[in-house]
Order: sequence, then structure tokens, then C-alpha cells
Amino acid sequence: MWLHFLVPLILLTTWTVTCHVIDETAGKMADYSGYTLHRFQVDTTSNTMEKLESYDMELDQTTQTARLLIDIWAEPSKQNPHADVLVAPEFLQKFKSLLTTAELSTLKMIEGDIQSQINAERRAMIHNTVRRRRKRALRSWHDFDTNAYHSYDEMVEFMRLLSEQKPDMVEMVKVATSSEGRSIYGVKIHPPGISPPEKPSIIVDAGVHAREWIAPAVGLFMIKKIVSEYGKTGEVTANLQKFDWYIMPQVNPDGYEYSRTNDRLWRKTRSKNVTVNRWCVGADANRNWGYRWGEAGANRTPCSNIYMGSHPYSEPEIKGLKEFFTWQITNPMVYISLHSYGQLLLSPWGYTNERTENYQDQQNAAKEAALAIKNTTGVSYSYGTISEMMYPASGTSIDFMQHRGVPYIYGVELRPTDNPNSFAFNLPPSYIRATGDEMMAALNAIGTHAVKVKRL
Ligand SMILES: [Zn+2]
Repeated sequence: MWLHFLVPLILLTTWTVTCHVIDETAGKMADYSGYTLHRFQVDTTSNTMEKLESYDMELDQTTQTARLLIDIWAEPSKQNPHADVLVAPEFLQKFKSLLTTAELSTLKMIEGDIQSQINAERRAMIHNTVRRRRKRALRSWHDFDTNAYHSYDEMVEFMRLLSEQKPDMVEMVKVATSSEGRSIYGVKIHPPGISPPEKPSIIVDAGVHAREWIAPAVGLFMIKKIVSEYGKTGEVTANLQKFDWYIMPQVNPDGYEYSRTNDRLWRKTRSKNVTVNRWCVGADANRNWGYRWGEAGANRTPCSNIYMGSHPYSEPEIKGLKEFFTWQITNPMVYISLHSYGQLLLSPWGYTNERTENYQDQQNAAKEAALAIKNTTGVSYSYGTISEMMYPASGTSIDFMQHRGVPYIYGVELRPTDNPNSFAFNLPPSYIRATGDEMMAALNAIGTHAVKVKRL
């Protein structure tokens, strides 16, 4: 999720319960057996979420291992006043005692065993990987399967092939090097031929939070869609002629790979904060931006899941993105950061309740985007500013881009929210296409709005 207060889980050393190792390439996987996911109605003015947050994690002083007690997965917003909360078995009674009578009366368990959901997802992923390996290695960008969750190496291979096979439209760009030494890439897409300088840009990043797998999958889906449909689909063609598109589908590859091999619910980066705390790893990459860093809604505890980092831009991934956005993109018009989940379009500010100067225009574009989504798949997305819809959050890319003067900015929480199932972060890959289609429609609507209002 984009916001999200809570902390979780630190799996620094050995997890003390039995681990399900179902892939020989995996390390010792974090085990969430007995953890259950609950939903309850809660008003955004209630202090229940803050109370719950304070319990997040139990640290065993002797072994210096951490055990997650409670993790907020979806926060209440004005339009969707309910919360999704993951609860450890031993904390269930205490959790219920912290809710008000009214909240308790709406409480329902939406997933009885989160570990079995993680296992099912893992089995499907291994099956798909084996199936892909049986086929010959990827030779053409056409053959890249966007209806699957991929390793980071596979994502990079797709972007490399695309830039080699469509050099007149796609340029692969390196934006940063991660803490663990991975190169972070994105693509610049423009109409065939040489892109004129100073063209306005649409910028999309995804994967800031490791466990939100649908976000990078949608980023990759959009890359393939734009290149495939240029010249065929009116809106895609028009928006590529008006804008250069920069899409960075996975900006936290260390965290993402860790969520694939060690802990499915990992959210942060994988930096080692040895000078601050030698046990807790990583920072929240969406609290690490320098504009209004460390103000409302940030957390200074290195073990927290929303730890803001030891200083602004302490995370090399964020430092690299900031440099790239600042020096390489001359005329940013639209900035979208893809997250999950909740079906929301969140605009600035995050750090304050005050409205931005261009508040109304941003909301007008969001309204058109939400309508485009509805017309594409029938799904509802809500929109508003972060602080008016939820709680404050500072040190985010959204606020940085607003400060930079980018006109249209949205942190997007993708699916699911109101789905009768409770897939949460484990959204099956069969949902990628619809989620990608609706987001493509949303971006085209925002692009079209910008062309009209800014007379591009
Ligand atoms: Zn997120």
C-alpha cells in the first residue's frame, strides 16, 4: 500500500517456526501459519488504527528476533471506511479488545490462513517458471508473458529485448543501482523516429513497495501495450505522439526478490543500517524522499515498515530516481506511482492537509481517470488527496513531484478492494490483464485531459 503505518516484520535471523520451503532456490521462507486477515468498519477520525499500530511487532531481546503481531494492509479512507488487518494467532484476543463496540460489530475474517494463500501462489509461480523454462528462451519481446509474475532478471531481459528489437521507439535507461548492486532500469517510449526534445513526459514507476506484485506487473503490461498498440489504438497513438513515456516497472528490485525468495510480505528496501540498528534491514522507499522528509506520518524506528531511513535519500534507489527525475526529464507533465491495494488515486499533499494550488485540476483529471476505469472494466476507483482521504504521510515521491511543479500526480493503489475474495497482495496473475487495461485507460484519460487543459 501506498500509505500504511505499520510495521512488520523483520526476519533477520532465523524464523523460529517451521518453514515451508517449496522451491530449492528459495532461502528459508518466512512462515505466516495461523495468521488471519480481518476487515472492519472504522471511521478515519477514530484513533483505533494508531492504537493497533503501536503493537505491530514483538522483539525477543534474547534472540534479537522479531515476531509480527499485527500489520495494517489497507487503511480506511473516506470513501471506503474499512481497514484490512493481518493478525498473529496469539494476538487475536488482544486485537479484538482494542476495537470499539461499533467496530467490533462489523468485524469479519476475510482470510483464515494467509500462509496457504502464499503457498498456493508460490506453487502456481513455480509451475509457470518451469513451463517457461521448457519453452525456449525468450527471443522476442512479443513472447514476453505479461499475464505472469516475473523475476527481476526476466523483467530486465524483456526491456533489453524490446529496446534492441524496437530501437526506433524504445530506449532502455538506467536510473540507479540498488543496495545489493542490481541495476535499476526503465524504458523511454516515443513514436518511431527521433523524439523531439522538450516534449512533455508521462512518468510511471512501480514496485516501490516490494510485496505489491501487481504494480510491476501492470508497469510491464503497459510497456508492452503502448508499443504493440501504437498506430492501432487511437488513444494510445495520440498520447504517444503528445508525450514521451518513461516507465520504470521495478524500482525496488532487492526488496522484490526478497519477497519472492524469503518473505512474501516484505515491503521495504534491503539496505543495511549498521550504524543505526544492526538487526533491522531496509527503509520504506516511499518515506525517504527529501521534500518534507521525516514530518507527519513517518517513522524513525529502523524496524518499522514505514521507517523513513537514516537521512533523506539514504536509499540508493530513491537517490537515483531523484537524480533521474531532476536531470534527465525536462518537462514532466504526469507522474504516477503504482502501488497496491485499495483502488485509489491519491494526489498531493501527503505531509499536510492543505490543498495544492492546482488541487481542482488534479481532481478533475482524477475524475476522468476513474470514469475511464469504470468504462473499461466496471471497477470503481476513488480519488482525493492523501491527507484528505486518509492520514498524513511525508517523504513521499508524490510530494517531491508536486514541489517540483509536475501538474498531474497520483499515487495509485491498484486492485483489489471490494472483491469478494481477499487476495490482498496475493492477487492471482489472471487479474493482471484487467488491472493493466483499466490503468492504461486511466493514464490515457489523464494524458488527454492534460493536452486539453495545458493546450499541448
Ligand atoms: Zn505501496
